[in-house]
Amino acid sequence: MDYIFLSRDKRFHCIASYRALVQKDFAKNLWIPYTNLFSKDSAHRVVRGTVKNIFYDHVILDAGEQSSSDITLSTYHPETDPQRINFDYLVIATGSQVPAPAKWDVDNSADGLKLLDQAREDLEASERIVIIGGGACGCEEAGEIKYRYPKKSVTVIHEGPALVDYPGYPQSFKDEARRFLENQGVEVILNERVEIEGLSRENGIQKADRTIKLKHSGRTIQSDMQFFSTGMSVDTQLLSTLLPFPAVSSDKNKDAFDFKSLLDPKTKAILVKSTLQLDNDAFQHIFAIGDVSKADPVLTAQAAVSAGETAACNIVKLIQNAKSKHEAKDSLCHSSYKLEKYQHTRPLMVLAMNPKGGVTHLPVLGTWFGNLGAWLVKSNDLFSGRFWHEMNMHRP
Ligand SMILES: Cc1cc2nc3c(=O)[nH]c(=O)nc-3n(C[C@H](O)[C@H](O)[C@H](O)COP(=O)(O)OP(=O)(O)OC[C@H]3O[C@@H](n4cnc5c(N)ncnc54)[C@H](O)[C@@H]3O)c2cc1C
Repeated sequence: MDYIFLSRDKRFHCIASYRALVQKDFAKNLWIPYTNLFSKDSAHRVVRGTVKNIFYDHVILDAGEQSSSDITLSTYHPETDPQRINFDYLVIATGSQVPAPAKWDVDNSADGLKLLDQAREDLEASERIVIIGGGACGCEEAGEIKYRYPKKSVTVIHEGPALVDYPGYPQSFKDEARRFLENQGVEVILNERVEIEGLSRENGIQKADRTIKLKHSGRTIQSDMQFFSTGMSVDTQLLSTLLPFPAVSSDKNKDAFDFKSLLDPKTKAILVKSTLQLDNDAFQHIFAIGDVSKADPVLTAQAAVSAGETAACNIVKLIQNAKSKHEAKDSLCHSSYKLEKYQHTRPLMVLAMNPKGGVTHLPVLGTWFGNLGAWLVKSNDLFSGRFWHEMNMHRP
């Protein structure tokens, strides 16, 4: 059996992105090569390429892409269609888009690093920083900037009544996040909205002199650099070519199916069953996990990993079941074989607001081990050592 992962030339370790914004030598942790993920004699392969379309039993990669030097498309069916990859089972784990510098809309690591260097230079040359959005990203970004540049003014403007206002998290955690930032010298403005010309989810960083007017109070704030730290989104358009199997040869069925029925109408995240299969019996061989799916209410790496384990387990079960019953893949939809149900992760969040600390919420211990917990678990290296190790690489 082949496992195929499809991605950019390197894995982006977004959790370290704000530290890399303020600390140049930390940027080497950001992009992890896939080269050692599998041993040379492994049956599994990494294929570099962006999936453009998903069909019932194959995906199509973007034709315009250049393959990387270490991972090449020529390892896979070059004699037929190098852009086509067939599958028996598919896991969609395409993640989310978060405004830069948390994530970059780039094809390769070199371009990402260049943009990061530019953002760092702009930040160094700025004195009054405004961050829009007080979720986990905005809080970590504000904390890192203020710690590295204590003389610069840093303001977080958040439209909600509390920072990190996620479902399932207690008020104590939200208050603690605010207290931590304010103690560092960050100004936190809640229940306010602003619109800044030129700043958006797609253009998340702006170096410009702006007078920013708060919508409710009318107060103005002078700023020479702005970050848009809100509006995580998912791109699920690649599902638009997906059709139930019989529909491939039947125009009638084709018209009856709308891929949008697989998506959450508001967020466009992929709707899944508790088994993480797509929420439509026609696609029992396709799973969606991580940020791109609606499996968990709060999107974390912890939830993505846990969902990955459930999906992998269920695929193995489906394969074993098919083998034992000598069934074809299509009849699996009607199989009564018991698949694992994904259990939502319990609220656990570690906000690393600087290299020495932050705020933590743990399922049993709550928020009280905040700073110590953040320091012990995450703040120092932002999981870089762990992620490089998982990819069988030595951390640089
Ligand atoms: C700044 C920041 C800090 C965070 N801190 C934490 C933390 O401390 N703890 C925690 O648990 N979570 C944290 N998170 C959240 C966590 O990073 C995500 O929930 C997690 O990465 C989701 O994993 P994923 O596999 O779903 O998506 P991703 O990690 O985004 O991976 C998706 C991959 O799919 C690739 N891809 C996308 N589209 C395609 C396509 N069409 N074809 C081929 N490949 C494609 C992408 O390039 C990417 O490599 C943080 C997030 C950010 C932004």
